[in-house]
Amino acid sequence: MTTLNEWDKKHFIHPTSSIQEQQANGPKVIFDKGEGIYLTSKDGTRYIDAMSSLWNVNIGHGRKEIAEAAKDQMEQLAYSSCFSNFSNEPAIRLAKKIADLAPPSLNAVFFTSGGSESNDSAIKIVRHYWRIQGQPERNKIVALRRGYHGVSAGATSATGIPEFWDMAGSLMQGFIHAKSPYEIGTESSIQSIREVIEAEGPEKIAAFMAEPVQGAGGVLIPPKDYYKEVRKICNEYGILYIADEVITGFGRTGKMFGVENYGVEPDVLSFAKGVTSGYFPLGGVIVSDHVHNVLKEKSEGVLFHGFTYSGHPTGAAVALRNLEILERENLVDNSSKMGGELQKGFKSIKGESTIVGDIRTLGLLGAMEFVQDPLTNKRFPAELKVAPRIIAALHERGVICRAVTYDNTDIVCFSPPLIITKTQIDDLIAILREAVLSVQQEVEEQLAA
Ligand code: PMP
Repeated sequence: MTTLNEWDKKHFIHPTSSIQEQQANGPKVIFDKGEGIYLTSKDGTRYIDAMSSLWNVNIGHGRKEIAEAAKDQMEQLAYSSCFSNFSNEPAIRLAKKIADLAPPSLNAVFFTSGGSESNDSAIKIVRHYWRIQGQPERNKIVALRRGYHGVSAGATSATGIPEFWDMAGSLMQGFIHAKSPYEIGTESSIQSIREVIEAEGPEKIAAFMAEPVQGAGGVLIPPKDYYKEVRKICNEYGILYIADEVITGFGRTGKMFGVENYGVEPDVLSFAKGVTSGYFPLGGVIVSDHVHNVLKEKSEGVLFHGFTYSGHPTGAAVALRNLEILERENLVDNSSKMGGELQKGFKSIKGESTIVGDIRTLGLLGAMEFVQDPLTNKRFPAELKVAPRIIAALHERGVICRAVTYDNTDIVCFSPPLIITKTQIDDLIAILREAVLSVQQEVEEQLAA
């Protein structure tokens, strides 16, 4: 263990992590085993993985049949390229399967290795769509503040959380952010989108891009009518609508896709994470029949966009087996039912606590917000670090969760595996109650001192 800790500090630069913290304390946990909703560390401590790791291990850890599907495919054909119209059976079958599961008008799939690549692909596809129709100036992307779309060039530029911009030095041109419904409410957010479009000139806008539920921004769930209004604006100005379903796709929100909660269909939908439940890095973009028809009719020569692993046969075999499990075990339905249980649990804690503000769930995507005064929604001073302390208190008690603290918010996010049972939700809620009440006591003492 000591050797692994030292090697981690010396040789491993972690993604989205504090290097100072790593150098001071070493890796937080070295995970060794996963089974169902649980992760076990090398020293034998068991944790509830209340985030499905990174919102992705939807079918839970340790599924032997996924390992078998990967092994069988690797023995048959581990990898071959899909460039230059070469193909392979699992990739074809997966494209067909995803088209069957997606909203009716979305039927053609471009594959990537993850969410950021999917969003960069979506951005390039919509710009290409306008270019081949003789409107190359239609290249701007309107996105939302607090949106998260990944860390590659286009995805970073579309992301509406400034903390992610600094490392890029400069962002790609042509990205504008409207205010989110979380910040200013539905009507004002719709107005903000309209103002941005009018200010830039609608004839310069290629697409509007947003997550059905903003995940990394703090599980911010827009009201029911929000996306109908967004769709209306897009139609009015002839702008395409890209839904980033990297988190919300494949059952997370209690529906197969997040947009189904809002009764809308996007022109382009990006996905990753839940398509393989994290067992293989794979993502993609589904385009509508309309967009596909334009590409088929107007695209000349080679489409100069593709990743080495676009259409990876082993990844596709893993995804196919994962989706088979999702359907066989009715996990989308379970996500909806257990989401209701999670909401009930949150409510009971809010009833007992003086520091719980807004609580929200959509399927098994949930958040609890912490505030100094729930009546006025007055936030805690940032230096009290309330959400990170709740995360630490949960960690001590064997639950892995995630805090969001942008713009002085204290949000704790939940995204447990879709296989979670009522008893396991009860366990999670019992631990959460203890963690919240213990941090509440500390914070109240601190504020009184
Ligand atoms: N979009 C959304 C909505 C995400 O949550 C994420 C990752 N958390 C991404 C895109 C980026 O995906 P990846 O990390 O696989 O590149």
